Amino acid sequence: MIKEIEYFLNGKINEECGVFGIFNVEDAAQLTYYGLHSLQHRGQEGAGIASCDNGNIIREKGEGLVTEVFNSDKMSKLSGNMAIGHVRYSTSGGGGIENVQPILVRSHTGDFVVAHNGNIVNAKELKMQLEAMGSIFHTTSDSEIIGHLIQREVGSFQEKILKALPKLEGAFSFLIMDRESLYVIRDKNGFRPLSMGKLGNGFVFSSESSAFEIVGAEYVRGLKPGEVLKISKDKIVSKQYTDCTQDKMCAMEYIYFSRPDSSINGLNVHTSRRKCGSILAKESAVEADIVIGVPDSSLSSAMGYSDASGLPYELGLVKNRYVGRTFIKPNQQQRERGVKMKLSAMEAVVKGKKIVLVDDSIVRGTTSKHIIQLLKDAGAKEVHMRIASSPIISPCFYGVDTSTYSELISTRLNPKELGEFIGADSLAFLSHEGMLEGLGKNVCTACFTGRYPTSMFSLLENLKK
Ligand code: SF4
Repeated sequence: MIKEIEYFLNGKINEECGVFGIFNVEDAAQLTYYGLHSLQHRGQEGAGIASCDNGNIIREKGEGLVTEVFNSDKMSKLSGNMAIGHVRYSTSGGGGIENVQPILVRSHTGDFVVAHNGNIVNAKELKMQLEAMGSIFHTTSDSEIIGHLIQREVGSFQEKILKALPKLEGAFSFLIMDRESLYVIRDKNGFRPLSMGKLGNGFVFSSESSAFEIVGAEYVRGLKPGEVLKISKDKIVSKQYTDCTQDKMCAMEYIYFSRPDSSINGLNVHTSRRKCGSILAKESAVEADIVIGVPDSSLSSAMGYSDASGLPYELGLVKNRYVGRTFIKPNQQQRERGVKMKLSAMEAVVKGKKIVLVDDSIVRGTTSKHIIQLLKDAGAKEVHMRIASSPIISPCFYGVDTSTYSELISTRLNPKELGEFIGADSLAFLSHEGMLEGLGKNVCTACFTGRYPTSMFSLLENLKK
């Protein structure tokens, strides 16, 4: 239910998680706290940090925002110069404190902790196999699977990780910390971003490079698909857990999830959005007075639309930044109020104007409808909706909560019908070709095309979950 309320307040799709890790930097947990804070947009249900001090792993976690979970008492326990952290949004496995990461695995061969961003698409089969072999799961999160797989292998800890990873299908960026080393892992399809930075004599890793800024780290590079980095006292070793890789970064990371100040695979998110907005303007020009964007993720593409169309970019919608989480059961009236709590239309700007309203995507259409109504109530003469991505027609199996087929409105309505449903004077989406031009060709666009870059068998099994 909370997810449903957040959906209406966010009005958007949600992502599963962000990870942050530090090696060989004093007060590693303190810096991890700041890193997680700047990844907070990737998950608000729970947060956790594990640090390592002289071979002793300490973990603190809780439900809620980073600032709610960690107080000075908890932070004082997290000593050491190596740490990993996690912010959680649950798309699989559900909520609850037991699913808040990092997951701690106690073992006679040595404790270790795991933080995961993404979704394991063959989780159901793997869990059944592992349970049949005697594994006992303590959480309902997919992320625990890697811990059990590692435990079942033989060899050094690094060898065990390298043997376990090929069994996983789907999207994952893992940070795994044992008593001596940090392991940083990106899946063979490269779905989720994971960047490496340098800080003094140490290293920093983050789901988004924007988190480096706050800790003063310098961006080094993104991890390659299928790469396993081991960082220990005397060296960094890079290995591939498979050579069968492809570069399929989630297009939604550029379109919606990531912060504009992040760079993914060398492409700045704001720049990519602005370019998509420009292409959209060339593809779907309309006579209007001003261009406005839906805050925050659509402001860059609205600027791009303004660049290419020559229409002035204006601030027509203002976001209330202090809404936070609301634990109320939404009925229709409350949903509408939810949008109003989050956004206000600027009457002084929009009254009597023909407006191009740029948004990044449409999932169910209900939020667009409310926003257009807000603008019309404030006196807008016409509202022409322009979407800086293609229609979403398929669910995501790789860690993004894009609902089911039946909830995706573009599976039922064509753009003309959808435009009428949301009350727009016209509606147009960015073409698929335009999207690839703006984001680069090495992206996953499965939710826009229905063509998935991994085996369909596991995906169909996922649908039965
Ligand atoms: S299906 Fe869509 S949301 Fe999922 S990884 Fe691919 S582009 Fe991203």
